[in-house]
Amino acid sequence: MLNIALFGPPGAGKGTQSEMLIEKYKLFYISTGDILRKEIKEKSKLGLEAQSIIASGGLVSDEIIVQIIEKTIKENQESKGFLFDGFPRTYVQAYILEGLMIKLNTSLNCLISLEVEEEESVQRLLNRGKTSGRSDDSEDVIRNRLKEYHNKTLPVLKYYKDRGIYHSINGLNTIEQVHDEICEILQDELSKNLLNIVLFGYPGSGRGSQGMALAKKFGLQYVATGKMLEQEIENKTETGKRIQELYENGDLVPDEIVVQLIEQKIEKAKDIKGFIFKGFPRTLVQSYILDGLLKKNNSSISEIIDIEVPTLELISRLDARSKTDRCMPYDDSTEKIVKRLQEHENKTIPVIEKYSQTHNIKKIDGMGSFEEVFERLSTEIEQEFRKI
Ligand code: AMP
Repeated sequence: MLNIALFGPPGAGKGTQSEMLIEKYKLFYISTGDILRKEIKEKSKLGLEAQSIIASGGLVSDEIIVQIIEKTIKENQESKGFLFDGFPRTYVQAYILEGLMIKLNTSLNCLISLEVEEEESVQRLLNRGKTSGRSDDSEDVIRNRLKEYHNKTLPVLKYYKDRGIYHSINGLNTIEQVHDEICEILQDELSKNLLNIVLFGYPGSGRGSQGMALAKKFGLQYVATGKMLEQEIENKTETGKRIQELYENGDLVPDEIVVQLIEQKIEKAKDIKGFIFKGFPRTLVQSYILDGLLKKNNSSISEIIDIEVPTLELISRLDARSKTDRCMPYDDSTEKIVKRLQEHENKTIPVIEKYSQTHNIKKIDGMGSFEEVFERLSTEIEQEFRKI
Protein backbone atom coordinates (compact mmCIF):
# COMPACT_ATOMS: atom_id res chain seq x y z
CA MET A 1 0.00 0.00 0.00
CA LEU A 2 1.02 3.57 -0.52
CA ASN A 3 -0.34 5.82 2.23
CA ILE A 4 0.28 9.53 2.13
CA ALA A 5 -0.87 12.56 4.08
CA LEU A 6 -0.93 15.97 2.42
CA PHE A 7 -0.25 18.69 4.91
CA GLY A 8 -0.39 22.47 4.81
CA PRO A 9 -2.47 25.48 5.85
CA PRO A 10 -5.93 26.00 4.40
CA GLY A 11 -5.47 27.19 0.82
CA ALA A 12 -2.08 25.52 0.33
CA GLY A 13 -3.39 23.55 -2.64
CA LYS A 14 -3.97 20.16 -0.98
CA GLY A 15 -7.31 19.59 -2.71
CA THR A 16 -5.94 20.48 -6.17
CA GLN A 17 -2.88 18.26 -5.76
CA SER A 18 -4.98 15.43 -4.33
CA GLU A 19 -7.16 15.30 -7.44
CA MET A 20 -4.09 14.81 -9.64
CA LEU A 21 -2.53 12.24 -7.33
CA ILE A 22 -5.52 9.97 -6.83
CA GLU A 23 -5.93 9.77 -10.59
CA LYS A 24 -2.28 8.90 -11.18
CA TYR A 25 -1.70 6.51 -8.27
CA LYS A 26 -5.24 5.12 -7.90
CA LEU A 27 -5.34 5.98 -4.22
CA PHE A 28 -8.45 6.24 -2.09
CA TYR A 29 -8.96 9.89 -1.20
CA ILE A 30 -9.97 10.78 2.35
CA SER A 31 -10.66 14.44 2.98
CA THR A 32 -12.08 14.87 6.47
CA GLY A 33 -13.36 18.32 5.45
CA ASP A 34 -15.30 16.85 2.49
CA ILE A 35 -16.74 14.07 4.62
CA LEU A 36 -17.85 16.55 7.28
CA ARG A 37 -19.47 18.83 4.69
CA LYS A 38 -21.35 15.81 3.33
CA GLU A 39 -22.55 14.91 6.83
CA ILE A 40 -23.76 18.50 7.31
CA LYS A 41 -25.61 18.41 4.01
CA GLU A 42 -27.29 15.15 5.00
CA LYS A 43 -28.12 16.65 8.40
CA SER A 44 -26.78 13.56 10.16
CA LYS A 45 -26.20 13.59 13.93
CA LEU A 46 -22.48 13.92 13.31
CA GLY A 47 -23.05 16.73 10.79
CA LEU A 48 -25.20 18.67 13.19
CA GLU A 49 -22.55 18.35 15.88
CA ALA A 50 -19.81 19.61 13.56
CA GLN A 51 -21.73 22.38 11.82
CA SER A 52 -21.23 25.32 14.15
CA ILE A 53 -17.57 24.47 14.81
CA ILE A 54 -16.77 24.41 11.10
CA ALA A 55 -18.68 27.65 10.55
CA SER A 56 -16.53 29.39 13.15
CA GLY A 57 -13.27 28.00 11.72
CA GLY A 58 -12.48 25.79 14.72
CA LEU A 59 -11.48 22.16 14.68
CA VAL A 60 -14.07 19.48 15.33
CA SER A 61 -13.33 17.00 18.12
CA ASP A 62 -10.90 14.14 17.66
CA GLU A 63 -13.74 11.75 18.62
CA ILE A 64 -15.79 12.80 15.59
CA ILE A 65 -12.74 12.52 13.34
CA VAL A 66 -11.95 8.99 14.57
CA GLN A 67 -15.47 7.87 13.80
CA ILE A 68 -15.48 9.13 10.23
CA ILE A 69 -11.95 8.03 9.40
CA GLU A 70 -12.34 4.55 10.87
CA LYS A 71 -15.55 3.97 8.96
CA THR A 72 -14.08 5.18 5.65
CA ILE A 73 -10.91 3.14 5.98
CA LYS A 74 -12.82 0.01 6.97
CA GLU A 75 -15.07 0.29 3.94
CA ASN A 76 -12.11 0.65 1.58
CA GLN A 77 -9.51 -1.75 2.94
CA GLU A 78 -8.85 -3.27 -0.46
CA SER A 79 -7.62 -0.03 -2.02
CA LYS A 80 -4.04 0.43 -3.19
CA GLY A 81 -3.48 3.05 -0.56
CA PHE A 82 -4.96 6.14 1.06
CA LEU A 83 -4.39 9.81 0.46
CA PHE A 84 -5.29 11.86 3.52
CA ASP A 85 -6.15 15.53 3.10
CA GLY A 86 -6.82 17.58 6.20
CA PHE A 87 -5.92 14.72 8.52
CA PRO A 88 -4.06 14.42 10.88
CA ARG A 89 -4.73 17.93 12.10
CA THR A 90 -3.78 17.53 15.75
CA TYR A 91 -0.97 15.72 17.55
CA VAL A 92 -3.53 13.25 18.92
CA GLN A 93 -4.79 12.54 15.40
CA ALA A 94 -1.24 11.57 14.37
CA TYR A 95 -1.39 8.77 16.95
CA ILE A 96 -4.88 7.86 15.82
CA LEU A 97 -3.64 7.50 12.25
CA GLU A 98 -0.76 5.33 13.39
CA GLY A 99 -3.18 3.05 15.25
CA LEU A 100 -5.51 2.78 12.27
CA MET A 101 -2.63 1.91 9.96
CA ILE A 102 -1.42 -0.81 12.35
CA LYS A 103 -4.89 -2.30 12.28
CA LEU A 104 -4.57 -2.61 8.50
CA ASN A 105 -1.07 -4.03 8.84
CA THR A 106 0.38 -1.05 7.02
CA SER A 107 1.88 2.35 7.82
CA LEU A 108 1.95 5.92 6.59
CA ASN A 109 4.71 6.20 3.97
CA CYS A 110 5.14 9.93 4.12
CA LEU A 111 3.68 13.26 5.08
CA ILE A 112 4.12 15.94 2.43
CA SER A 113 3.86 19.48 3.63
CA LEU A 114 2.96 22.26 1.18
CA GLU A 115 4.56 25.39 2.58
CA VAL A 116 2.63 28.61 1.93
CA GLU A 117 2.85 31.90 3.83
CA GLU A 118 -0.12 33.09 5.81
CA GLU A 119 -1.03 36.15 3.68
CA GLU A 120 -0.86 34.05 0.52
CA SER A 121 -3.30 31.49 1.92
CA VAL A 122 -5.69 34.24 3.04
CA GLN A 123 -5.68 35.70 -0.49
CA ARG A 124 -6.16 32.29 -2.08
CA LEU A 125 -9.06 31.41 0.22
CA LEU A 126 -10.74 34.78 -0.30
CA ASN A 127 -10.50 34.18 -4.03
CA ARG A 128 -11.85 30.66 -3.65
CA GLY A 129 -14.66 32.03 -1.48
CA LYS A 130 -16.03 33.91 -4.50
CA THR A 131 -16.97 30.60 -6.13
CA SER A 132 -16.65 27.77 -3.59
CA GLY A 133 -19.90 28.43 -1.79
CA ARG A 134 -18.09 27.50 1.43
CA SER A 135 -19.30 29.60 4.32
CA ASP A 136 -15.93 29.20 6.03
CA ASP A 137 -14.10 30.99 3.19
CA SER A 138 -14.83 34.47 4.60
CA GLU A 139 -12.05 36.62 6.06
CA ASP A 140 -12.72 36.38 9.81
CA VAL A 141 -13.34 32.63 9.62
CA ILE A 142 -10.21 32.22 7.49
CA ARG A 143 -8.16 34.04 10.14
CA ASN A 144 -9.55 31.73 12.79
CA ARG A 145 -8.78 28.64 10.68
CA LEU A 146 -5.20 29.83 10.34
CA LYS A 147 -4.97 30.44 14.07
CA GLU A 148 -6.14 26.87 14.70
CA TYR A 149 -3.60 25.69 12.15
CA HIS A 150 -0.76 27.43 14.00
CA ASN A 151 -1.80 26.33 17.45
CA LYS A 152 -3.03 22.79 16.89
CA THR A 153 -1.92 21.55 13.49
CA LEU A 154 1.68 22.74 13.09
CA PRO A 155 2.83 20.65 16.11
CA VAL A 156 1.89 17.56 14.06
CA LEU A 157 5.00 18.18 11.93
CA LYS A 158 7.27 17.35 14.83
CA TYR A 159 5.67 13.91 15.07
CA TYR A 160 6.59 13.12 11.46
CA LYS A 161 9.98 14.85 11.53
CA ASP A 162 10.90 12.59 14.46
CA ARG A 163 9.87 9.57 12.42
CA GLY A 164 11.84 10.67 9.37
CA ILE A 165 8.91 10.63 6.96
CA TYR A 166 8.33 14.38 6.65
CA HIS A 167 8.87 16.10 3.28
CA SER A 168 8.51 19.79 2.64
CA ILE A 169 7.59 21.38 -0.68
CA ASN A 170 7.34 25.02 -1.69
CA GLY A 171 3.61 25.52 -2.22
CA LEU A 172 4.16 28.85 -4.00
CA ASN A 173 5.43 27.11 -7.13
CA THR A 174 3.09 26.36 -10.01
CA ILE A 175 0.56 23.53 -9.68
CA GLU A 176 2.60 21.42 -12.14
CA GLN A 177 5.89 22.04 -10.35
CA VAL A 178 4.38 21.07 -7.01
CA HIS A 179 2.80 17.99 -8.59
CA ASP A 180 6.13 16.91 -10.12
CA GLU A 181 7.91 17.29 -6.80
CA ILE A 182 5.29 15.23 -5.00
CA CYS A 183 5.51 12.53 -7.69
CA GLU A 184 9.26 12.34 -7.22
CA ILE A 185 8.77 11.62 -3.52
CA LEU A 186 6.07 9.05 -4.23
CA GLN A 187 8.12 7.30 -6.91
CA ASP A 188 10.87 6.94 -4.36
CA GLU A 189 8.42 5.47 -1.88
CA LEU A 190 7.01 3.06 -4.44
CA SER A 191 10.45 1.71 -5.23
CA LYS A 192 10.70 0.82 -1.54
CA ASN A 193 7.42 -1.10 -1.73
CA LEU A 194 8.58 -4.67 -1.37
CA LEU A 195 6.66 -7.87 -1.82
CA ASN A 196 7.48 -9.99 1.21
CA ILE A 197 6.31 -13.56 1.22
CA VAL A 198 6.52 -16.07 4.02
CA LEU A 199 6.42 -19.63 2.78
CA PHE A 200 5.19 -22.17 5.31
CA GLY A 201 4.80 -25.91 4.98
CA TYR A 202 5.93 -29.07 6.72
CA PRO A 203 9.42 -30.40 6.03
CA GLY A 204 9.13 -32.27 2.76
CA SER A 205 6.36 -30.03 1.40
CA GLY A 206 8.71 -28.58 -1.18
CA ARG A 207 9.11 -25.11 0.40
CA GLY A 208 12.85 -25.01 -0.26
CA SER A 209 12.92 -25.93 -3.93
CA GLN A 210 9.75 -23.96 -4.69
CA GLY A 211 10.99 -20.96 -2.72
CA MET A 212 14.27 -20.83 -4.62
CA ALA A 213 12.58 -21.16 -8.00
CA LEU A 214 9.96 -18.53 -7.13
CA ALA A 215 12.64 -16.11 -5.95
CA LYS A 216 14.45 -16.50 -9.27
CA LYS A 217 11.31 -16.05 -11.34
CA PHE A 218 10.04 -12.95 -9.52
CA GLY A 219 13.30 -11.18 -8.63
CA LEU A 220 12.86 -11.78 -4.93
CA GLN A 221 15.62 -12.36 -2.41
CA TYR A 222 15.41 -15.90 -1.04
CA VAL A 223 15.97 -15.94 2.72
CA ALA A 224 16.38 -19.44 4.13
CA THR A 225 17.87 -19.45 7.59
CA GLY A 226 19.15 -23.05 7.41
CA LYS A 227 21.11 -22.24 4.28
CA MET A 228 22.43 -19.00 5.74
CA LEU A 229 23.78 -20.82 8.80
CA GLU A 230 25.47 -23.44 6.59
CA GLN A 231 26.99 -20.64 4.52
CA GLU A 232 28.52 -19.08 7.62
CA ILE A 233 30.12 -22.40 8.56
CA GLU A 234 31.41 -22.85 5.02
CA ASN A 235 32.87 -19.33 4.94
CA LYS A 236 34.54 -20.03 8.29
CA THR A 237 33.38 -16.70 9.73
CA GLU A 238 33.45 -16.04 13.47
CA THR A 239 29.68 -16.63 13.57
CA GLY A 240 30.21 -19.79 11.50
CA LYS A 241 32.62 -21.16 14.11
CA ARG A 242 30.08 -20.52 16.87
CA ILE A 243 27.33 -22.20 14.87
CA GLN A 244 29.56 -25.22 14.22
CA GLU A 245 30.20 -25.59 17.94
CA LEU A 246 26.49 -25.40 18.71
CA TYR A 247 25.73 -28.01 16.03
CA GLU A 248 28.41 -30.32 17.40
CA ASN A 249 26.96 -30.08 20.90
CA GLY A 250 23.48 -30.69 19.51
CA ASP A 251 22.34 -27.23 20.70
CA LEU A 252 19.88 -24.94 18.93
CA VAL A 253 21.24 -21.83 17.26
CA PRO A 254 20.02 -18.89 19.38
CA ASP A 255 17.73 -16.30 17.84
CA GLU A 256 20.38 -13.60 18.29
CA ILE A 257 22.53 -15.19 15.60
CA VAL A 258 19.65 -15.81 13.20
CA VAL A 259 18.36 -12.27 13.65
CA GLN A 260 21.75 -10.74 12.92
CA LEU A 261 22.10 -12.74 9.73
CA ILE A 262 18.62 -11.87 8.49
CA GLU A 263 19.11 -8.23 9.40
CA GLN A 264 22.30 -8.12 7.33
CA LYS A 265 20.59 -9.86 4.43
CA ILE A 266 17.68 -7.39 4.43
CA GLU A 267 19.92 -4.35 4.72
CA LYS A 268 22.39 -5.51 2.06
CA ALA A 269 19.68 -6.40 -0.47
CA LYS A 270 19.71 -4.15 -3.51
CA ASP A 271 17.61 -4.03 -6.67
CA ILE A 272 15.17 -6.64 -5.50
CA LYS A 273 11.40 -6.66 -5.57
CA GLY A 274 11.04 -8.21 -2.14
CA PHE A 275 11.87 -11.21 0.00
CA ILE A 276 10.73 -14.77 0.25
CA PHE A 277 11.25 -16.25 3.70
CA LYS A 278 11.58 -19.98 4.19
CA GLY A 279 12.22 -21.70 7.50
CA PHE A 280 11.76 -18.40 9.30
CA PRO A 281 9.78 -17.54 11.39
CA ARG A 282 9.77 -20.95 12.98
CA THR A 283 8.59 -19.95 16.44
CA LEU A 284 6.27 -17.30 17.86
CA VAL A 285 9.29 -15.34 19.09
CA GLN A 286 10.73 -15.35 15.59
CA SER A 287 7.43 -14.17 14.13
CA TYR A 288 7.59 -11.06 16.31
CA ILE A 289 11.21 -10.61 15.29
CA LEU A 290 10.35 -10.75 11.60
CA ASP A 291 7.52 -8.24 12.00
CA GLY A 292 9.97 -5.95 13.79
CA LEU A 293 12.76 -6.38 11.24
CA LEU A 294 10.45 -5.56 8.36
CA LYS A 295 8.89 -2.63 10.19
CA LYS A 296 12.36 -1.23 10.84
CA ASN A 297 12.78 -1.14 7.07
CA ASN A 298 9.37 0.46 6.63
CA SER A 299 7.97 -2.76 5.23
CA SER A 300 5.74 -5.65 6.28
CA ILE A 301 4.66 -9.15 5.31
CA SER A 302 2.65 -8.97 2.09
CA GLU A 303 1.52 -12.55 1.84
CA ILE A 304 1.68 -15.82 3.76
CA ILE A 305 1.51 -19.07 1.86
CA ASP A 306 1.13 -22.49 3.43
CA ILE A 307 1.95 -25.46 1.20
CA GLU A 308 -0.24 -28.38 2.21
CA VAL A 309 0.85 -31.99 1.81
CA PRO A 310 -0.65 -35.00 3.67
CA THR A 311 1.56 -36.46 6.41
CA LEU A 312 2.05 -39.88 4.79
CA GLU A 313 3.24 -38.23 1.59
CA LEU A 314 5.66 -36.05 3.61
CA ILE A 315 7.18 -39.10 5.28
CA SER A 316 7.48 -40.93 2.01
CA ARG A 317 9.16 -37.89 0.33
CA LEU A 318 11.62 -37.34 3.18
CA ASP A 319 12.40 -41.05 3.33
CA ALA A 320 13.00 -41.14 -0.43
CA ARG A 321 15.28 -38.10 -0.16
CA SER A 322 17.27 -39.74 2.62
CA LYS A 323 18.30 -42.43 0.15
CA THR A 324 19.70 -39.95 -2.38
CA ASP A 325 22.74 -37.66 -2.30
CA ARG A 326 20.35 -34.80 -1.43
CA CYS A 327 20.01 -36.36 2.01
CA MET A 328 20.28 -33.75 4.76
CA PRO A 329 22.02 -34.66 8.02
CA TYR A 330 18.69 -34.01 9.77
CA ASP A 331 16.66 -36.54 7.79
CA ASP A 332 18.91 -39.57 7.58
CA SER A 333 16.78 -41.66 9.95
CA THR A 334 13.06 -42.18 10.52
CA GLU A 335 13.48 -40.97 14.07
CA LYS A 336 14.91 -37.63 12.94
CA ILE A 337 12.24 -37.21 10.28
CA VAL A 338 9.44 -37.75 12.79
CA LYS A 339 11.14 -35.35 15.22
CA ARG A 340 11.23 -32.61 12.57
CA LEU A 341 7.58 -33.09 11.71
CA GLN A 342 6.71 -32.91 15.41
CA GLU A 343 8.82 -29.78 15.83
CA HIS A 344 6.86 -28.11 13.03
CA GLU A 345 3.57 -29.20 14.57
CA ASN A 346 4.47 -27.87 18.02
CA LYS A 347 6.32 -24.68 17.23
CA THR A 348 5.41 -23.49 13.75
CA ILE A 349 1.70 -24.29 13.54
CA PRO A 350 1.03 -21.77 16.39
CA VAL A 351 2.86 -19.16 14.28
CA ILE A 352 0.54 -19.80 11.35
CA GLU A 353 -2.42 -19.59 13.71
CA LYS A 354 -1.16 -16.27 15.04
CA TYR A 355 -0.81 -14.86 11.52
CA SER A 356 -4.24 -16.14 10.53
CA GLN A 357 -5.69 -13.48 12.82
CA THR A 358 -4.08 -10.66 10.85
CA HIS A 359 -3.49 -12.13 7.38
CA ASN A 360 -5.47 -14.09 4.89
CA ILE A 361 -3.27 -17.20 4.71
CA LYS A 362 -3.21 -18.76 1.25
CA LYS A 363 -3.35 -22.55 1.39
CA ILE A 364 -1.72 -24.09 -1.65
CA ASP A 365 -2.11 -27.74 -2.56
CA GLY A 366 1.41 -29.20 -2.56
CA MET A 367 0.46 -32.47 -4.25
CA GLY A 368 1.40 -33.15 -7.87
CA SER A 369 4.53 -32.51 -9.88
CA PHE A 370 7.01 -29.74 -9.05
CA GLU A 371 5.77 -27.79 -12.09
CA GLU A 372 2.12 -28.09 -11.09
CA VAL A 373 2.77 -26.76 -7.59
CA PHE A 374 5.08 -24.06 -8.99
CA GLU A 375 2.29 -22.93 -11.31
CA ARG A 376 -0.16 -22.64 -8.41
CA LEU A 377 2.31 -20.65 -6.34
CA SER A 378 3.25 -18.39 -9.26
CA THR A 379 -0.39 -17.51 -9.94
CA GLU A 380 -0.79 -16.53 -6.31
CA ILE A 381 2.32 -14.35 -6.29
CA GLU A 382 1.41 -12.69 -9.59
CA GLN A 383 -1.89 -11.63 -8.04
CA GLU A 384 -0.09 -10.19 -5.06
CA PHE A 385 2.29 -8.24 -7.33
CA ARG A 386 -0.70 -6.71 -9.08
CA LYS A 387 -1.89 -5.36 -5.73
CA ILE A 388 1.30 -3.40 -5.13
P1 AMP B 1 -10.95 21.50 5.10
O1 AMP B 1 -11.89 21.17 4.02
O2 AMP B 1 -9.88 20.46 5.25
O3 AMP B 1 -10.39 22.88 5.01
O4 AMP B 1 -11.79 21.42 6.48
C1 AMP B 1 -12.86 22.30 6.77
C2 AMP B 1 -13.19 22.28 8.26
O5 AMP B 1 -13.55 20.94 8.66
C3 AMP B 1 -12.04 22.65 9.17
O6 AMP B 1 -11.89 24.05 9.32
C4 AMP B 1 -12.44 21.97 10.47
O7 AMP B 1 -13.45 22.68 11.14
C5 AMP B 1 -13.07 20.67 9.99
N1 AMP B 1 -12.06 19.59 9.89
C6 AMP B 1 -11.64 18.97 8.76
N2 AMP B 1 -10.73 18.03 9.04
C7 AMP B 1 -10.55 18.05 10.38
C8 AMP B 1 -9.73 17.31 11.29
N3 AMP B 1 -8.91 16.36 10.85
N4 AMP B 1 -9.81 17.60 12.60
C9 AMP B 1 -10.65 18.55 13.06
N5 AMP B 1 -11.43 19.28 12.26
C10 AMP B 1 -11.40 19.05 10.93
